[in-house]
Amino acid sequence: MPLPPKLTPQEREAALLAATAARRERSEVKSALKNSGISIFDVINSASAAIQKMRVRELLESVPGVGKLRAEAIMERAKISPTRRIAGLGRNQIMALKGELAMSKVDPQRGTLIVMSGPGGVGKSTITRELKNDPRFWISISATTRDPREGEREGVDYFFYTDSKFDQLIAESAFLEWAEFAGARYGTPREPIEHWLALGKNVLLEIEIEGARQVRSADPAAMLIFIAPPSWEELKARLEGRGTDTPERQAARLALAEVEMAAAGEFDHILVNHQVGELVEEMVSLATSHQV
Ligand code: 5GP
Repeated sequence: MPLPPKLTPQEREAALLAATAARRERSEVKSALKNSGISIFDVINSASAAIQKMRVRELLESVPGVGKLRAEAIMERAKISPTRRIAGLGRNQIMALKGELAMSKVDPQRGTLIVMSGPGGVGKSTITRELKNDPRFWISISATTRDPREGEREGVDYFFYTDSKFDQLIAESAFLEWAEFAGARYGTPREPIEHWLALGKNVLLEIEIEGARQVRSADPAAMLIFIAPPSWEELKARLEGRGTDTPERQAARLALAEVEMAAAGEFDHILVNHQVGELVEEMVSLATSHQV
């Protein structure tokens, strides 16, 4: 048998420190799984070498509701060997794990479907940007027939489709909702919504009001949030301040904002955007208290 490599005292010290750091990282992940509702698939996707070396069994046993026996049974059905580490999981095994966990409804509780609407200029995209950085949320990516604006990326900001592709997706019932807005069509792809809700994410749709109404009838459990400006004058000032619009376009935007404001009463919650940070906190607390 080959002898283990001889380490200098410095090398031994460094190896010990690295092992301690890896242990700490793994125990933090396990406690996040238990307490902060992160999904095991966030852990599986982690780039950390220490996490990738963790055994799948150890990971599964840290999921609330999965004990030793259940973890063993899940792994057997997903055809994962008992000693497999995260780094060694194949694509099919990950898919099988997803299926197993979704079926046994243990990982973690189902997320909340949140629809956010409100007049243009009220700050919805800033709110969305903030929530994008929160691992408890997944932000839906809509399809649209409008042209990309400068800096917008396919599959990141929107899926940009032709009219005929959009027609085809409507015919296939691929949208949870869709509506026309300012001369273009917009729709929410249905499939990823169910996928992420089942994995425990709060799913956020930032859509206009007609679409919000459709989600309400398709899924009565959805939570509808209306974002309102502190005052009509402030919204007017924000829209006029955009500066890129012609006076006609500005007048049209204001008229539309008026129609949008009139729909506020149809929503479950109206949040006034005085300060984005506070509003995001309110949304997080509404989403988490809404989970069943
Ligand atoms: P914009 O073209 O400025 O990105 O979006 C125009 C409007 O379309 C916004 O009010 C936005 O919330 C809405 N919108 C974006 N995606 C969807 C969608 O998937 N469905 C619906 N109904 N409206 C959407």
